[in-house]
Amino acid sequence: MSKKILVVAGDGIGPEIVAEAMKVLQALQADGSIDVSIEDALIGGAAYDAVGDPLPAETLEAAKASDAVLLGAVGGPKWEPLHISKRPEKGLLGMRAGLGLFANLRPAILYPQLADASTLKADVVSGLDIMIVRELTGGIYFGQPRGVETLPSGERKGVNTLVYTESEVERICRVAFDIAMKRGKKVCSVDKANVLECTEMWREVAVKTAADYPEIDLSHMYVDNAAMQLVRAPKQFDVMVTTNMFGDILSDCAAMLTGSIGMLPSASLNADGQGMYEPIHGSAPDIAGKGVANPLATILSVAMMLRYSLDAPAAADRIEKAVSQVLDQGLRTADIMSEGMRQVGTAEMGDAVVAALS
Ligand code: NAD
Repeated sequence: MSKKILVVAGDGIGPEIVAEAMKVLQALQADGSIDVSIEDALIGGAAYDAVGDPLPAETLEAAKASDAVLLGAVGGPKWEPLHISKRPEKGLLGMRAGLGLFANLRPAILYPQLADASTLKADVVSGLDIMIVRELTGGIYFGQPRGVETLPSGERKGVNTLVYTESEVERICRVAFDIAMKRGKKVCSVDKANVLECTEMWREVAVKTAADYPEIDLSHMYVDNAAMQLVRAPKQFDVMVTTNMFGDILSDCAAMLTGSIGMLPSASLNADGQGMYEPIHGSAPDIAGKGVANPLATILSVAMMLRYSLDAPAAADRIEKAVSQVLDQGLRTADIMSEGMRQVGTAEMGDAVVAALS
């Protein structure tokens, strides 16, 4: 049955990188590997400029009616002076909330061909393949009470609250365990159970949930140690599962182990497997319109989309192999360029991936 994809290109380099991802999708459609219908819609600054709203109601409705959403990026200096409710980022947050995307999947993969791009020694990171599963709709970013109040003494007091229910912890652990079952079957749950009661409960729920996954090797780590281990010996990890804030920080740290922001995809899933897929980088206003942006993170986001929301793992494998092949051919966009390689622009990189698919 045909699956529906909504494409929201957004701002800055968004339209350029999404155009290359579309070439890949269309090539797979043309050779019969996938059966999809593709629609597009406005988001972010582009939507604000067109209709005065960074997330028009039609965009959210179209997203809800899709199996998956492919997003480029949103934001840019042009919209920074706007009130926070009208800024492009509001479109992204509204989409996450509107679709109930509670599980954020952030792989940190270092293609051996790019081992020199990392600031860590090549042997520490070469072949790195970690999946960080971050809880996205709960925890301290959403907990009540929150805010800043002025005390009778005139001093201000700021409060944020870390809140999780057992069911929220269980569902994110299940996502992590299900993913690990298709990988190395190892999950490290990251908490601060020695200090925070809420994450002590997190650990208990992780252990209880793991009873349904006898093949999973579940371990636990305090977040401070996890940060240290990520830079000391990152290849010890397969899947990591953690809270919203710890995941925010650790996934950026893990991404930077690879040294190439233009290479990393991400997925955010809801309970029905519907997902939004996007590169981890932003709209890169400094290079927008120049045809030099790396489209590979967006193309790899399409691979994640095929694997996690569209039930087309073979097509996902083909995309990932094609990306590896173009790197083997020595093709590099400016952000991952190194000596002896051939520098190409956004469109040439997209074309090379399409050619490598066959
Ligand atoms: P950024 O990720 O856009 O750019 C950081 C640096 O990485 C820049 O030098 C940029 O040129 C480079 N870069 C990013 N993607 C690249 C690619 N595909 N190929 C080559 N180089 C690439 O982060 P920023 O500069 O902090 O933010 C710019 C705008 O993007 C801001 O408005 C910010 O709010 C927004 N943003 C959006 C998202 C999103 O849409 N999910 C995420 C982060 C930032």
